[in-house]
Amino acid sequence: MQELLDITPEEVNQAAEAIIAAKPAYRDLIAFYGRIFAAQEDARQRIRLEPVVISEDLLTIRRREQLPLVPVSGMAFDPAAAGVLLGEICGIAVDSATGLSSPARILSAKSAGMGPLFRDFLNEDESAMARAAAGIGVDPHALAFFLYHSLRPALRCCARQLSGFLTDATVWEQGYCPICGSPPGLSGLEGDGQRFLFCSFCWHTWPLRRALCPFCGNRDQERLLFLYSDEEPEYRVDACASCRKYIKTVDTRVLARRSYPPLEQIASLHLDIKASEEGYAAGIPITPPS
Ligand SMILES: [Zn+2]
Ligand SMILES: [Zn+2]
Repeated sequence: MQELLDITPEEVNQAAEAIIAAKPAYRDLIAFYGRIFAAQEDARQRIRLEPVVISEDLLTIRRREQLPLVPVSGMAFDPAAAGVLLGEICGIAVDSATGLSSPARILSAKSAGMGPLFRDFLNEDESAMARAAAGIGVDPHALAFFLYHSLRPALRCCARQLSGFLTDATVWEQGYCPICGSPPGLSGLEGDGQRFLFCSFCWHTWPLRRALCPFCGNRDQERLLFLYSDEEPEYRVDACASCRKYIKTVDTRVLARRSYPPLEQIASLHLDIKASEEGYAAGIPITPPS
């Protein structure tokens, strides 16, 4: 599954074109996100991070207690690379016909003073974020969007480094990310039918048994449901009748195009609507894309 994420900017563009050909209704949205994800894959090559160090004692405790390796605030990032990427993403958004165009224009003019906000964002310091958003004159959700997407390549690099602490002997049957503790944002099925979850924050992937709700731990097969349509065999919604939450799944075994999971997540927004209509809530907040 991880290899689906490690692709070149050109391959991201190809994946975006393939989705647009298959789902023309998503043209504008996929073109927008395709450019952002391609810029992130490009930036990933330039990121330099100090490795995060975890002592053996702490590792032992975290493994035993099934705790993630670090809190989100403990993840490393490259401030200079994040600042450059922020400028690029603002440029992409300014060009777009989305609601992010206006805040991107404002942020572009202020990008020089944005450095400390990356740390506030990772610290989940909501009051600092709200103050900053009000001071800059943008919606706090829009600010969070730009900060997160500027940090995302570093978060993936950091998660990769931290994953070295997860040994084969690490038994992890939790529905939250073993690296950063965030909930999964997407699930995938690969060749042998193995199910993987993608972290909604650092995009680390980890295997999880199929008959298990990642949000409440329900293992009762009669209370685990699927929503799907014959027209889109590559997607389905895994819903839980116990906690009424759902996660979307991409079945890579039947996907007849190059796949980049973050794009598939966008190209399946209609399933979020369907799940909501059926009375299920997303396991992670769905950020309005435009
Ligand atoms: Zn994570
Ligand atoms: Zn559940």
